[in-house]
Amino acid sequence: MGNESPGIMKEAKMAEDASSRHSKTGAFVGVAVICVAALLGYLVWAGKIAGGKPVCEVCKRIIHTETSFKIVRADGSMQATCCPRCGLAAVIQNGGRALEAVDFSSKKPIGAAEAIYLEGSEIMECCSTTGFRSDEGAYQDMGYDRCMPSLLAFARREDADMVRQKHGGRIIGFEEARQSVARQLKNQ
Ligand SMILES: [Zn+2]
Ligand SMILES: [Zn+2]
Repeated sequence: MGNESPGIMKEAKMAEDASSRHSKTGAFVGVAVICVAALLGYLVWAGKIAGGKPVCEVCKRIIHTETSFKIVRADGSMQATCCPRCGLAAVIQNGGRALEAVDFSSKKPIGAAEAIYLEGSEIMECCSTTGFRSDEGAYQDMGYDRCMPSLLAFARREDADMVRQKHGGRIIGFEEARQSVARQLKNQ
């Protein structure tokens, strides 16, 4: 005796095959995990996601749907911002045009140029700062923050007026809103 039977040899070979297949799978999963991690890292770095939420490319704050504002850059690409104020500031400074606002009441997209705007109310979705009051005197002091004074968009004047009665501010049209942002940028 002393010779191993062919059957045992075969079994040992099969076990070897299985373990090498297993380690190949392991290596593949490892590479895939590294790729996904690298991609996520890139997206966070590029400002595309912050905790799963998109951030404003102007002020880097998280974008809240009900106050978000879309613009078309001078090169024709789209840009999302946290509020009409950031969007208009980007258009005034870098060119392009205002495209789409979101009706604060219905949370539905509306044309930026047709929207009714409520400026200076105490509602600040994109800023954590509280205690802002809309009296005229306070405007100048708020110039340091791109998002202030608050600028909200509405599809209907009645909705804007309802929010104004509770939270203050003044109702203006698109052109007035644009001019207000332009004035603010000039004074900075
Ligand atoms: Zn912003
Ligand atoms: Zn903002």
